[in-house]
Amino acid sequence: MTASTSSRPVRLRVAPSPTGDPHVGTAYISLFDLAFVRQQGGQFILRIEDTDQARFRQDSEAQIFDTLHWLGLNWDEGPDIGGPFAPYRQSERLDRYTPYVDRLLESGHAYHCWCSTERLLQMREAQQKAKKPTGYDRLCYGKTREERAALPGFSEIPVVRMLIPADLDTRFTDLIRGETNAPHPDDQVIVKADGFPTYHLAVVVDDHEMGITHVVRGEEWISSTPKHILLYTWLGLELPKFAHMPLLRNPDKSKISKRKNPAARLTWFREQGYLPEALVNFLALLAYPPKEDGREVFTFEEFVADFDWAKVNPVGPIFDLDKLGWLNGQYIRSLGSDELAARIVDHLSLTGVLGAEPAAGQVELIRAATPLVQERMQLLSESEGMLAFLLVSDGDLVIQDDARAQLKDDAAGVVDTAIPVLEALPKWVAADIEEALRATLVDGLGLKPRLAFTPLRVGVTGRRISPPLFESMEILGRDSSLVRLRALRASL
Ligand code: GLU
Repeated sequence: MTASTSSRPVRLRVAPSPTGDPHVGTAYISLFDLAFVRQQGGQFILRIEDTDQARFRQDSEAQIFDTLHWLGLNWDEGPDIGGPFAPYRQSERLDRYTPYVDRLLESGHAYHCWCSTERLLQMREAQQKAKKPTGYDRLCYGKTREERAALPGFSEIPVVRMLIPADLDTRFTDLIRGETNAPHPDDQVIVKADGFPTYHLAVVVDDHEMGITHVVRGEEWISSTPKHILLYTWLGLELPKFAHMPLLRNPDKSKISKRKNPAARLTWFREQGYLPEALVNFLALLAYPPKEDGREVFTFEEFVADFDWAKVNPVGPIFDLDKLGWLNGQYIRSLGSDELAARIVDHLSLTGVLGAEPAAGQVELIRAATPLVQERMQLLSESEGMLAFLLVSDGDLVIQDDARAQLKDDAAGVVDTAIPVLEALPKWVAADIEEALRATLVDGLGLKPRLAFTPLRVGVTGRRISPPLFESMEILGRDSSLVRLRALRASL
């Protein structure tokens, strides 16, 4: 079997099922779809496959929209924006499948099956016991309803099955894998007893009606592809090309799943403070080689310019969060300071550290402090610990236990000496604060710098580790710094 070679306008789609928090695989497939579409000047379509009523989750669709938009993976047609092939939600297309089923029944490529679930179970058990291959035994094939009703295991409402030929050629050409083979399929159900089409029928009809030229999806669908090609052929529809992306795997090589790995959930990355452009770069690298010179940091535009299906690695990539953390750090450092400050503010609003509309004063403090933390962060979420001291009022600052544990006996003396020096400083700037404190505490009292400055750091920030001390004091301001040092002194 070969894919079509016609030159239709390039149209690719991603077809997530709204069954909960969006899966990272949806972004991964969308990214590869988009790289090709943007390179070829085609269209990218978002279709929601929501016919599995049992697994449907109401808020999932909105989360799919939000997370893909957050990543900049935007579609040209979809349920929210419409398009020439609307509707883009499978549940709104249910009436479209019937004519195709009728054609398959009339041409004898499909047949009704009235076997009850119990009968199918018994049949399967008997096949397994006899060590025979399992598969539908075609008890219903060629029988009228009346003939079948006379036999045991009859169910009132039939399903529709494909009549898979015994000599079906199960090979097909995959854009990533070349010639690919799949196991011989069973007589696949295409219409369920509830009247809903199964995925196999709906995907073929929808892809055909939406003019999809390239079907890009996870490797787990390889075994379904011969059935889909058969449906296209029986119905006389033009075949798309197929590309099966390698599955994303946990470090133990198992398939990445939302149950086992938080990183399977797209919303997790945002909560953790990954930058969308870093995640996009990472998702590309999972199945695509670095640049010729070994460079792993590249933009979406560079990815598009270079994109070639033949370069996609068919072997399942490991989802390495250390690598993503490293990449995120690279992106954080490459941002302008004001841009990073804006991202930090958004992140702290998202996680509830700041309100939805942060006060101008808080935003200003974050902007001033961002250059102090830019080199020290891999994730936006780390800014929370480092900048928290700027965002609380002096009275609410809590000195953390591990910070207090750093204080030695001479801490009180250090603070007592530092306070009048700080009060007397003519100008409140980091360089002057540092010079005056060094002169008094290190040169004057002969203290090691660590012993001299730790009590000040703990008093001002409440933490053991903070952004650079003198800059932090400058940003916090003289009044707050002194109020906090006096409060620490009183607690010693
Ligand atoms: N709804 C299917 C999924 O979520 C889509 C598979 C396909 O793209 O054909 O995996």
